[in-house]
Amino acid sequence: MLEEQFLLNNFREFYAGHSVDVPAIGEREFGIGSFGKKIAKRHLSFPSQNELNSFLRETVPLFISYSVAYYEQPTATPMRRKGFLGADIVYEFDADDLKTDCKQGHDSWRCNSCQERGKGTLDSCPKCGAAVQKEQWFCPKCLEQTKKHVFRLLDFIGNDFSLREKISVNFSGNAGYHVHLRGNTVRFLSQEARVELLDYLTAKDLDLGKHGFGESGKMFLCPLSGKTSGWGKRLLASLFALFEEADSEKIAALGGIPYARANELVANKELVLRTMKEKGILFSISGRKNKQFWLSLLTHLVEKNALAIDRQTSIDISKIIRVPETLHGGSGLLAKDIPLQHLKEFNPLDSAVVFSDRGVKVFINSSPKFYLKGNWFGPFNQEEAELPLYAAIYLIARKSARLVG
Ligand SMILES: [Zn+2]
Ligand SMILES: [Zn+2]
Repeated sequence: MLEEQFLLNNFREFYAGHSVDVPAIGEREFGIGSFGKKIAKRHLSFPSQNELNSFLRETVPLFISYSVAYYEQPTATPMRRKGFLGADIVYEFDADDLKTDCKQGHDSWRCNSCQERGKGTLDSCPKCGAAVQKEQWFCPKCLEQTKKHVFRLLDFIGNDFSLREKISVNFSGNAGYHVHLRGNTVRFLSQEARVELLDYLTAKDLDLGKHGFGESGKMFLCPLSGKTSGWGKRLLASLFALFEEADSEKIAALGGIPYARANELVANKELVLRTMKEKGILFSISGRKNKQFWLSLLTHLVEKNALAIDRQTSIDISKIIRVPETLHGGSGLLAKDIPLQHLKEFNPLDSAVVFSDRGVKVFINSSPKFYLKGNWFGPFNQEEAELPLYAAIYLIARKSARLVG
């Protein structure tokens, strides 16, 4: 197909001047994908960086992934014959797992059954209940929100786990970020331990009592600052912040109490904070609602601090994942490695754009307004436009446009 060939030619040109370097390359399984298919072939291996780079230049896969696991024989099948030698941990954060306002602007859906359609993102048709086909796009806003989860993860890794493993972060090439943890501590973790870590990070079945929050007689207690760590410390800090912020309306809504009562609490916030800090007691709001109020606030803070990690993919040790510094065939963007010191200001829709701005004519089926490399494009609907090469590749890779002429 013309479009596939167009992508291949451009990808080939890119790989001619770009090299990748994969740690422990000989022990990893690789998989490659083609136009519209992320994984078309698995169980490949490359004994050296040179061989991998020659492959990228000559064969030019539109997608390339490697295993998080290390194997004696990466090419052996079925999986159990590969000889498992341990695995990295790779956490994936995707903007499509987050609820952000911008989706109302750039996402849309269509019901396969009754043909109803609408803006935003949802899983089933509001009219007939059937599954919908989602059209998802990513903008600087939702990608920035996704990045916040990466920072939170780094905080968990450093403070709660005290892991001293090698951490590398890269853009996934489309919807979010991948965080790779490599080293001997994680390499030999059992599947159960991996699940336990994930449960902790996502606050699955978090027991507030174990972290120092709970009833004692008529009082509701919290842990003392200096004497708690992990989730206890995190929740306590969030609770302090909530009262420092002193937004009565927010506290009333989150805690399910009348505004007037929340306002009273806020008026006494010095006392509320002091009782927490010095006595480990959550200020008693009069009436029977005390327990319910604090539990509601804490439940909200747990949700706010929990990480949105894709559960299934994060504990799957036989998965393969995009090779950092390679192109994503569904966007034409680079799965760029991001040095931790540059993560804060990193915007993938600027920094992961690798193609030139030479003009290319395309016919666009439909697209919302989208951002790339400092410019906004569209919205487009069944129309022809001349776009910079990087934007044309982006739309063509997504199958939202085709070449003209
Ligand atoms: Zn429907
Ligand atoms: Zn967005």
